[in-house]
Parts: sequence; C-alpha cells; structure tokens
Amino acid sequence: MMGTYVKFKFSDTEYEFTNDLEFHGDYIWTEGNFSCDCNRSSFIQEHCDSEFPLMDCGDTIELIEVKEALT
Ligand SMILES: [Zn+2]
Repeated sequence: MMGTYVKFKFSDTEYEFTNDLEFHGDYIWTEGNFSCDCNRSSFIQEHCDSEFPLMDCGDTIELIEVKEALT
C-alpha cells in the first residue's frame, strides 16, 4: 500500500516515519496544515517518540524530506 514518508528535524534530532496518508504532493507538508509545529509535533509523538511534547503553532520543526512510499 502506498503512503507518505516524512523526515523532520528538530533540535539536531531527525524523526522519520511512513504513514498511510495518501500522497497528494508536498503542498500540505510545506505550506498546508502539516507545515505547522502543532501538527508536526503530533506526528512525531504518534510515530517516533511517545515522549515528544505537543507543540503550539510555529515553524521550528524543519521538514527534511517528504515523498510517496510503500507502507
Ligand atoms: Zn498550528
């Protein structure tokens, strides 16, 4: 099944995961809802680090890579 591979970077740590969201281009990750720390932090918490804090809106979590991938 195809999903979306994402790599974020925050505080010198990289967080990567593949989820089953259908990939419709990178817009939502670069400019849309998932460009915001509030959503990015929840992805990191859910997929990478259950201790990762949910963050307020902002742009401190950096997007390193996003692409379509096999889940
Ligand atoms: Zn936000």
